[in-house]
Amino acid sequence: MPRLQVEVQGVVQGVGFRPFVYRLARARGLAGWVRNRPDGVEIEIQGSAAELDGFLLALRDEKPAPARIQGIQARGIGELPGASLFSIRASGASERTRPSVPADLAVCADCAAEMDNPGERRFRYPFTNCTQCGPRYTILAGLPYDRARTAMKDFPLCEVCAAQFADPADRRFHAQPIACPACGPKVVLQDSRGTPRSEGDAAVLAAAAELAAGSVLALKGLGGYQLLVDATSEAAVARLRARKHREAKPFAVLFQDLAALQGACGVTEVEAALLQSPEAPILLLPRRGGGIAAGVAPGNPDLGAFLPPSPLHRLLSAAAGRPLVCTSGNLSDEPMAIGDDEALARLGAIADAFLVHDRPVLRPVDDSVGRVEAGSLHLLRRARGFAPLPLPLPFEGPPVLALGGHLKNTVTLLAAGQAVVSQHLGDMDSPQGLALLARTVEDLLEFFQVEPARLACDLHPDYGSTRLAESLARAWGLPLARVQHHHAHVAACMAEAGLRGPVLGLAWDGAGHGTDGTVWGGEALVVDGPGFTRVGHLRAFPLPGGERAVREPRRSALGLCWSVLGEDAAVAELFTGAERPLLNRMLERGIHAPWTSSLGRLFDAVAALTGIRAGAGFEGQAAMALEFAARASDDAAAYAFALRDGVADPAPMLAELLEDRRRGVAAGRMARRFHAGLAALAVAFAEAGALEDVILSGGCFQNRLLAGLCSRALRARGFRVHRPALYPANDGGISLGQAWVAAQSVAGPLLEV
Ligand code: ZN
Ligand code: ZN
Ligand code: FE
Repeated sequence: MPRLQVEVQGVVQGVGFRPFVYRLARARGLAGWVRNRPDGVEIEIQGSAAELDGFLLALRDEKPAPARIQGIQARGIGELPGASLFSIRASGASERTRPSVPADLAVCADCAAEMDNPGERRFRYPFTNCTQCGPRYTILAGLPYDRARTAMKDFPLCEVCAAQFADPADRRFHAQPIACPACGPKVVLQDSRGTPRSEGDAAVLAAAAELAAGSVLALKGLGGYQLLVDATSEAAVARLRARKHREAKPFAVLFQDLAALQGACGVTEVEAALLQSPEAPILLLPRRGGGIAAGVAPGNPDLGAFLPPSPLHRLLSAAAGRPLVCTSGNLSDEPMAIGDDEALARLGAIADAFLVHDRPVLRPVDDSVGRVEAGSLHLLRRARGFAPLPLPLPFEGPPVLALGGHLKNTVTLLAAGQAVVSQHLGDMDSPQGLALLARTVEDLLEFFQVEPARLACDLHPDYGSTRLAESLARAWGLPLARVQHHHAHVAACMAEAGLRGPVLGLAWDGAGHGTDGTVWGGEALVVDGPGFTRVGHLRAFPLPGGERAVREPRRSALGLCWSVLGEDAAVAELFTGAERPLLNRMLERGIHAPWTSSLGRLFDAVAALTGIRAGAGFEGQAAMALEFAARASDDAAAYAFALRDGVADPAPMLAELLEDRRRGVAAGRMARRFHAGLAALAVAFAEAGALEDVILSGGCFQNRLLAGLCSRALRARGFRVHRPALYPANDGGISLGQAWVAAQSVAGPLLEV
């Protein structure tokens, strides 16, 4: 009988792949074995040629849902006498080459059915899981992945669980985190001081009753503490906003099942599949119908919606019987609380009750957030379900550790032909944020057993991430690559698309430190290998008060009008009589009025000038309001930008806009004309650049209308357009771009793979 050696690469460990191979082989009467290897799974398989073909096809077609296959190689290794024994072998002890750390997986259909069946021993058990679902990255202390190195190490398996764990035919075979009511973690409901009030199923039901009564509930979720309230109650939502000091940022809503979610949002087939996938991200979906409190996402036509990511969420949301706001357990932009004492201390004044359990959360992992555009997923926040799965690269460079930027930060470890991007770590303003950054560096180096050969960080000298990179570079005696922010935005998308350049990158963004010391953000960069040339940019304008302009779009409007028109009459009604002389003096003398080419600030300026929004509770709020107004308009006109020698002058746009405003044109039309003008500008930049590949990256391309208009206009002119997809267009992608640039900037040829 012919015998094959088969190698399968990709995410095939911790997802039930070996038992799947075992069942497949047994069903076909094939002999051989399967075992884990550092970079995947290795199989020897023997039988009739027809059965072998069927086996190879089924490997790909019938794989477990959470598995991701990058490659399957099969080669004949001779003929052997017939046999029928198939076994699962212990992992090979060979050296580790491309390890992968599994991501957390939402509850699977089999486990859900088991939880609903009163005859099953895991009936209503909130920690039910199997090889295809359950916690992974959030409970992992080290590699290789086995129970002794997880947060489940202090829960010895009972006899029944142990038998399932050891049985190759069982779907819990070698599922490291399995548990049952006899041997696993237990839930407890506590008051806001940590005094227990009830436990087990009674605790879940009591927590649901608290939610129904309008309380704020702290829930120890999969990747840390979350805060929940009744999403149909204005009063409950307002209470959460007031206590969390979060005035306007939209909240995500957890629905008990797809039918409930479809009652509130429009859902396509692709979106439904993603919502129910093992990654179970929050998706931004168009609202449909009422029922959700207006305070959940004020003024926003979209709603961030998701389905229960864990059995505990599933039980709680079903018991509550209503949609629930579900947001990270933190104050403003600090990292989520993960420790029980820490959570009581930080959230005791926010939550009325705590639904907790005794399975430790080893690192904070937020819910992932994305959106489907033209049939494909674009992540805005990459965390649960996706991190830290590796991105395969087209080359092997020296190991690089990149510490990212300042907001929505991540860390990237690039080694062995792959880039591992950490989960979303949040903003680096707080000591907690910086501590999490340092800890995540340790985590990645420990998991992947890599010694970096160089470090990378942002060009901004004052970022906390830059300072950490500098101190690590000194301590380890390593070179440090300082990568310009918008170069990194473009490079992140190149890494994802496997493009080495040259490409034209449009990095349209909030703010980043430029090589000339000014604030950049409306850039056209030609990127080739590790280098870049700034071939174009938005004409700069001053921001009176600097950073304060982020929260006060009217300041951007003032700076724009002052620099383009030489006067501030157009923004007079946005300021009090006392404010104007002061701000004008700042502009005239150039005191605390830095110049910027930021497109994000241009969006703010236009939001203020059209009367759509003069203030902002969070960065990007005004730009979002402008997008929403534009989406509601079908106007076909476009404001003009004058592109000369690479500099995009907004003067004609501003003149047309002010003329429209004088004539009383509706704000939505003006917003639409501004967006259409930017799409024409993108085409003008691309035609001047004369390169086939155009990359659209940076925070502004989170704007769905802008991204769609630019992509369509560019494709219509024959350009190949690339956009970030599984790595965010916002600053969550910066560390990946830095690592990609730094890996290529080493002298000497790279090893192509
Ligand atoms: Zn399962
Ligand atoms: Zn058990
Ligand atoms: Fe940025």
